[in-house]
Amino acid sequence: MSKLVKNYNRRKISFKYGKGSFLYSTDGKKYLDFVQGIAVNSLGHAHPQLVKTINKQSKKLWHVSNAFVIPEGEKLAQRLTKKTFADFVMFQNSGTEATEGAIKVARKYFHSIGKPKKNRILCVKNSFHGRTIAAIYASGSKKMTEGFGPKAGGFDHFLFGNHKSLKKKINKNTAAIMVETIMGEGGIKVIPDWCLRELRKICNKKNILLILDEVQCGIGRSGDFFAFEKSKVKPDIVPIAKGIGGGFPIGAVLMNKKVASKMTPGSHGSTFGGNPLAMSVGNSVMEIVSKRKFLKNVKNISNYFFLKLHEIKMIYPNIIKEIRGKGLLIGIQLHTNQVNFIKKLMENKLLTIKAAENVVRILPPLNVKKNEIDQALKIIKKVCSEIN
Ligand SMILES: *Cc1c(COP(=O)(O)O)cnc(C)c1O
Repeated sequence: MSKLVKNYNRRKISFKYGKGSFLYSTDGKKYLDFVQGIAVNSLGHAHPQLVKTINKQSKKLWHVSNAFVIPEGEKLAQRLTKKTFADFVMFQNSGTEATEGAIKVARKYFHSIGKPKKNRILCVKNSFHGRTIAAIYASGSKKMTEGFGPKAGGFDHFLFGNHKSLKKKINKNTAAIMVETIMGEGGIKVIPDWCLRELRKICNKKNILLILDEVQCGIGRSGDFFAFEKSKVKPDIVPIAKGIGGGFPIGAVLMNKKVASKMTPGSHGSTFGGNPLAMSVGNSVMEIVSKRKFLKNVKNISNYFFLKLHEIKMIYPNIIKEIRGKGLLIGIQLHTNQVNFIKKLMENKLLTIKAAENVVRILPPLNVKKNEIDQALKIIKKVCSEIN
């Protein structure tokens, strides 16, 4: 009997090893892995360069305290700031730590400028920012918070896409608006660029910080390095995690110098965050993702994937309601519950994962090949024809 706490309803399948887009199960089957650890293995399984990096670094140095200068972390922070809006970076180990870190940075900023009451964070109802106490109350989901009270205060919520609701919930104590640029767990819902620009305008007008949670949609997943890039909006704070470690746990809070300047020594910390082993892997991921052609390939293959998925939707409009997402963060929204559909895909050796609103979430590695997309399309079509 398993001695693991049953906080997951685990699928009865285990894997021996992985290579690129594929996973090989302990019972000798080969699966096309379009979950990739939920957008974590951005370069697929066992990427040769990452294997080399981790082997090399593991022989040199794994961990030292942040009490010392860590050159690998300095380098990754340079890389991230050079490529993005950010002036400074604070490393953590996970997404939820990064979103909590983002909240702390926002509150600290207003506290430091003599506005301690300006501490409320406005989020989307039923969004997802992680599982720590603050993060579940930030998400405003009844399911996630039930049983974990007392409630962590300081969060307000508005309805996704409802601008009236947003404006109504802003008050003089709103310190930050925190939203996922593309809602992941919530059902792959993209905030349009013009909405991001409106958000920025509102924030500017009311002296509110803009936090864009790119834990799932960042690091090339959307086809751009950050999903908000095309909008030209500059957020103040961006938590990242998932894809940046390519499978190694890394989280980070990216921020501008205005807010970073208030994070003085001792104001925040992390024992593990930013250790040499994690940072060397992060540097390798960045090196690959930053190559000139890399994101162009993501965009091209994404366009192809979307086109073909729309074709399938046209054949089976009674099964597929909507194709959602951007880049390689893709949702197939069904008319009915998606669990059986996902099971059937798995029986046909394609791994996917659910998201809210009857969505089948599809997360190939960013270096997925066209013939692997074709393989997935064939399986999706087959399952549609079977349940039709
Ligand atoms: C996954 C996720 C988190 C939480 O990340 P963990 O590493 O599981 O703590 C936070 N925000 C978003 C948008 C996510 O998708």
